Amino acid sequence: MNFTVTILGSGAALPTLSRMPSSQYINCNNRHFLIDCAEGTQVQLRKYKVHFQKISHIFISHLHGDHYFGLVGLLSSMSLLGREKEIHLFGPPELEEILTTQLHHGGSRLSFNINFHSLRFDVKEKIHEDDVLEIFSFPLKHKIPTCGFLINEKPKLLKIDAKKLKDKSIEVEHYKMFQNGLDVKLENGTIYRYQDFTFPPHPPMSYAYCSDTKKDLKIPEFIENCTVLYHEATFLKKDKSIANSTMHSTTIDAAEIASLASAKSLYVGHISSRYKSDEDFINELKEVFGNSYVTHDGLIIDLFKQ
Ligand SMILES: [Zn+2]
Repeated sequence: MNFTVTILGSGAALPTLSRMPSSQYINCNNRHFLIDCAEGTQVQLRKYKVHFQKISHIFISHLHGDHYFGLVGLLSSMSLLGREKEIHLFGPPELEEILTTQLHHGGSRLSFNINFHSLRFDVKEKIHEDDVLEIFSFPLKHKIPTCGFLINEKPKLLKIDAKKLKDKSIEVEHYKMFQNGLDVKLENGTIYRYQDFTFPPHPPMSYAYCSDTKKDLKIPEFIENCTVLYHEATFLKKDKSIANSTMHSTTIDAAEIASLASAKSLYVGHISSRYKSDEDFINELKEVFGNSYVTHDGLIIDLFKQ
């Protein structure tokens, strides 16, 4: 079991030597996802040793360049390297046309198929599911239509306590029943209660991604009790007026959302290049929400360690 988030870009619109713009790689139980794909994402993937052909799904939150200008480059590199496996791309409906135009005018054809899924921006919606996880999009409040994403692990099977099975006439095929919370009745009438042979699994974990947005009190409902909330905090509280006019959040906004959502931990990013140190960010966040961190490029967040 594993659930990690690698921060590929922790900065806002302007790429700098210390912070690249938004992009994150998520490995959830060996499913490989990319959220946002700013300029330079493919180089960041190489730098932080992510084998990018493994990525099966890409989620683009909105069409500001600092969230997708690296997409056509990454897809082109995947093609140059001979990718055959299709990729699922989720984004605003216009993204499909943008990509088609970019590729068409260069006479380029990708070596693999893109399965494009249009996002909605008015409701929370389940956009992907498999046997171990489900992914939702939900609306944020920004200058253009923007989605957040929520990755939820599904409830896990009970764990078999091998020591307790010893010397019992329980067949291997009964293990599955125990794991699913079912008792086993043998032909001779003996009943084995599943509680006596199992212990609870690790509770399912969830990761919420909110960038870019102004403070929106609907967000906590969408992501309630998430394990890790990544929320943008582009500005310090003294720059609240710029946050308002650009429809971004401050440290205090992000920390209040984390608190209202009862998140276990808060990680902020999309930090404006005007600030040279993380210290003020940390201090302001902790005024409101103790378990807060400022991300940096290359940071790996392990959801099992929160
Ligand atoms: Zn934006």
